[in-house]
Amino acid sequence: MNNHPLYDIADISFGYDATPVLQDLSFTLESGKFYGIVGPNGCGKTTLLDLLIGNRIPLSGSVSFKGKIVSSYHRRTLAQQISLVPQEFDTGFGYTVEEIVLMGRHPYISRFASPSAEDWQRVDQAMKTIGIDDLKNRYTNELSGGQKQRTVVARALAQNTDVLIFDEATSSLDVKYSLEIFNVARRLVLDKGRTVIAVIHNLNLAAAYCDKLLFMKDGKIACYGPTAEVMTPETIAGVFDISSKVSHDPYSRTLQVNFRYWD
Ligand code: ADP
Repeated sequence: MNNHPLYDIADISFGYDATPVLQDLSFTLESGKFYGIVGPNGCGKTTLLDLLIGNRIPLSGSVSFKGKIVSSYHRRTLAQQISLVPQEFDTGFGYTVEEIVLMGRHPYISRFASPSAEDWQRVDQAMKTIGIDDLKNRYTNELSGGQKQRTVVARALAQNTDVLIFDEATSSLDVKYSLEIFNVARRLVLDKGRTVIAVIHNLNLAAAYCDKLLFMKDGKIACYGPTAEVMTPETIAGVFDISSKVSHDPYSRTLQVNFRYWD
């Protein structure tokens, strides 16, 4: 065992061109927690996720994963530890749902080898968990947006990683499927000690599911801490420039946010 945090983000800055997109972010993430990243469109959330998975390298500062610079891992080793459900995923033509979910096993299948019994078992289990096993032979270009999104979540489950990263993974799902996906993620955290890092636009879902929240604004951390401490009308006003009420809701048994929709 070592004493490294799961992630140690030290003073990172990043920009695609001369304009800075992320500025001086420092924070750590521990294993076995459900993290939410919240902030307005364009504040740099997806860019931050790209840095967390080593897809992009900070201009300054460092992203360490389990004590080692994330971009120094072999891609295959990293893919056995971190899975990503992206905002948009081009499933392409000519692939079935089962084939897309099997892609989650690629980090474990050596080149030229066939999937093992364990690979197929994990693919089946992931499709059953997400409730898409009846779609397994359907071509993904014939699926609805929500079915595609659930397929990509199943692919991440099949990947069987310590860390699952969701970039607005439930944005095209109806309320039932959104709750199902978040509940699957929650069980992975509670029962298996996995870590979930999710960009979430819906503040009530963020309040209900996340242990800790990182609020971002203009490429900086506006606020980071336990959900009950940071999900406040002051934070929401500072980050989104809207008024709200935050209170414990007895029906959902969690913090919930209310808005005054019109004057
Ligand atoms: P969010 O996920 O919070 O909506 P993003 O990280 O996608 O924000 O984008 C942050 C900023 O970086 C935006 O101004 C966006 O236009 C810009 N940006 C994102 N991706 C690219 C890219 N590939 N090239 C240039 N600019 C980009």
